[in-house]
Amino acid sequence: MRKPIIAGNWKMNKTVKEAVELINELKPLVAKSKPEVVVCVPYTDLWAVKEAIAGSKIKLGAENVAWADNGAFTGEISADMLLEIGVEYVIIGHSERRQYFGETDQSVNARAKQALKKGLKPIICVGETLTEREKNKTKKVLKKQVVEGFKDFTAEDFANIVIAYEPVWAIGTGKTATAEDANKTIGYIRSLVKKIWGSEVAKALRIQYGGSMKPTNAKELMAMRNIDGGLIGGAALKATDFAGIVNYKNN
Ligand code: PEP
Repeated sequence: MRKPIIAGNWKMNKTVKEAVELINELKPLVAKSKPEVVVCVPYTDLWAVKEAIAGSKIKLGAENVAWADNGAFTGEISADMLLEIGVEYVIIGHSERRQYFGETDQSVNARAKQALKKGLKPIICVGETLTEREKNKTKKVLKKQVVEGFKDFTAEDFANIVIAYEPVWAIGTGKTATAEDANKTIGYIRSLVKKIWGSEVAKALRIQYGGSMKPTNAKELMAMRNIDGGLIGGAALKATDFAGIVNYKNN
């Protein structure tokens, strides 16, 4: 059985003060939750959030990591820096990174390999744009993202990897893929992993859905066979909304 994982992606939101307020409101709301709960927060919030989540079941995540150990890479943050703070998960290859910051399958691959080498757990994002979807290219795009983005990963690596399938047209738009559609596409991603890394790896791999997930649609999405969790943007910024997704079983 794959343990569901609900991760918040705060993006470029929340000052330290706001971050601590959000965590303090969230903690009691998710205290009895069954899924694994992660908050991926801006670098500047990591230390304060680490202290605020102490004693709770909420785990700490970052929103990116450098591919190099250290050195002249202005603006980048290394795996060691994250590990020392207590970061466990790191989002890699989010569509906003690909769209605005020139991330490619190759840079995603390099960052993910570094995360794995250092003992961070990457949440690797894949997904098609609206144009690609309308041109019936979803499968082709996902295949390229998996083959090139996951190049040289070993079967063992997958024990520490989470994939987030995020159709780009559903991110922050209020448009959600239908549960059936998301399930089918995630099933396709699982089949790609099976073909390359084998059925045991594919069976154990957790694949999240991301794209306008909210308390009102979480239960339906999470009921799908292939969907093992959610990567949550907008709804992660409000404690009651995020908790409503984490506690989807009660909806
Ligand atoms: C995201 O950015 O990962 C995301 C899923 O955003 P939203 O939930 O706001 O669509």
